[in-house]
Amino acid sequence: MQVLNSGFVRLVESMGGDEAVIRNARRCWRSEAKTKNADRQLLRHLLKAGHKTPFEAMVFTFDVKAPLFVARQWFRHRIGSYNEESLRYCVALRDYYIPEHLEGDVLEAWIRQNEVAFDFYDSLVGGTGPKKMAKEQARSILPIGIYTTFYWTVNGSALMNFLHLRLDKQAQYEIRQYAEAILELVKDVAPICFDEFEREVLKISG
Ligand SMILES: Cc1cc2nc3c(=O)[nH]c(=O)nc-3n(C[C@H](O)[C@H](O)[C@H](O)COP(=O)(O)OP(=O)(O)OC[C@H]3O[C@@H](n4cnc5c(N)ncnc54)[C@H](O)[C@@H]3O)c2cc1C
Repeated sequence: MQVLNSGFVRLVESMGGDEAVIRNARRCWRSEAKTKNADRQLLRHLLKAGHKTPFEAMVFTFDVKAPLFVARQWFRHRIGSYNEESLRYCVALRDYYIPEHLEGDVLEAWIRQNEVAFDFYDSLVGGTGPKKMAKEQARSILPIGIYTTFYWTVNGSALMNFLHLRLDKQAQYEIRQYAEAILELVKDVAPICFDEFEREVLKISG
């Protein structure tokens, strides 16, 4: 799913879904799966009561391309695993965030500033002789709006925490766009869990 001017989020793989969460939760009461409605009621109860562990039975891996400043906010979510491309080992691609509302002189200046930074960076990492610099040092000249890519593996409970915080209007617009895309992706995997999550936690009535 495309996000911002040049980013994306894709669901690479997942384990578990509604059934796995319900199975884990039912172990607490030594009960068997019942009707669809009873299962839904159970999920609603778990979310209301903050009984989060059964949601850890779902695990998702996302492939993300996001501006560095978004990734920095994202990586504050410690319950999950990250693997990010390294600008010690890879040359930075000329790819940077452009806010959609920019126009006219400001848009031109925005692009110019980024291009100048990339021109200098390229001359440092591609240069010869005294001008040549290691990628790990040269990267510090690049702005925080450049795009990075990473894989994020996260369980359903930690993902709900991320969504709750990052879908809120207090969260920055840019990370909210990613959270919205992720919510759409996981609804295909665990439709009842995330439907009830929207209703009970986000308070969005269906
Ligand atoms: C609108 C907004 C503004 C923010 N502004 C700032 C800011 O100005 N500066 C800044 O530094 N951060 C800021 N943050 C980041 C915020 O403080 C959290 O670090 C971030 O949202 C991750 O949340 P989390 O700890 O719940 O998630 P995770 O790290 O994924 O943790 C999930 C849950 O696990 C538990 N947990 C994890 N680690 C620990 C631990 N060490 N001890 C106890 N319990 C733990 C907690 O219950 C936690 O809720 C902001 C976040 C938001 C949403």
